[in-house]
Amino acid sequence: MKNKIKKSILVLIFFISQHNFVTSQIYHNPIKTHGNLSVSGNKIVDQNKQPVSFAGNSFFWSNTNWGAEKFYNAEVVSWLKKDWETTIVRVAIGVDENGGYLTDTTNKDRIKVVIDAAIKEGLYVIIDWHSHHAEKHQKEAIEFFKEMATLYGHLPNIIYEIYNEPIRSSWSNDIKPYAEAVIAAIRIIDPDNLIIVGSSTWSQDVDIVSKDPITSNKNIAYTLHFYAASHKEKLREKAQIALDNGIALMVTEWGTINASGDGNVDHESTDKWIEFLLKNKISHLNWSVNDKNEGASIIKPNVSEKGNWSDTDLTESGKKVKTIIKHWNKQ
Ligand code: MG
Repeated sequence: MKNKIKKSILVLIFFISQHNFVTSQIYHNPIKTHGNLSVSGNKIVDQNKQPVSFAGNSFFWSNTNWGAEKFYNAEVVSWLKKDWETTIVRVAIGVDENGGYLTDTTNKDRIKVVIDAAIKEGLYVIIDWHSHHAEKHQKEAIEFFKEMATLYGHLPNIIYEIYNEPIRSSWSNDIKPYAEAVIAAIRIIDPDNLIIVGSSTWSQDVDIVSKDPITSNKNIAYTLHFYAASHKEKLREKAQIALDNGIALMVTEWGTINASGDGNVDHESTDKWIEFLLKNKISHLNWSVNDKNEGASIIKPNVSEKGNWSDTDLTESGKKVKTIIKHWNKQ
């Protein structure tokens, strides 16, 4: 009898350990499990046409001498995957500000290190054209994305984000024509990978977009950005209108703090947003991987540039976001 109980316990332990093993394997190899992503109605679906969402981290502006370029390395990507169970990362190539790509092409080398690391680790990676005025540099955007599509367009990992945050540009007159031109150039090289488009008011006007969406191509989704201490129910209502009108959303950038990137963590508002994203299966990436002394940074100043962060190295925002990412897809 005793032996029987012992055996049953051992069998039970075996099954529990197998279950945990499978769970962590699934979300540590998102590319193997989910493969090519596409848009179906207002959802992102995987290679099996199942709705799917991912949680991860956005890197900070890549601009030279802005202080966050030191984190654009393979070790950080590997650490986020291993310790945070991040399944998607975003490189934010600074474009038209000081030290950006238009005047300093080393930005491109920098983001490629992270893109290559994400591919090696089996993660999704968003290539974000981090500009507030992208339609002023359409030619350069087209050249850049043609190069990215040529290098990476055959891989399931890659997602193109062609305009981070328009500010006061008009959706129908400025942003949409820009997006259609860039999308057409990408599609000649890469017929299928997801392309994400921003909207006016720092990528909050997804309701406006949903009344005049891009129909010239498939697998187009739209980014929604929020900062929890500044943006609340009103912005979720805009997001809901967009979803109801049938467009797919990805939150390629969000913060626990206010819209300036600073201030205290708003725990209550963050929790409400996460509940909304979970309910609607919307992927999200937290702003940002940086040690600058401001609320949005996930790590404190002067910690290791290569990951391996202890919980005391994390900021208040970093601790909360790590928990959110680790629990995503296990709820
Ligand atoms: Mg492709």
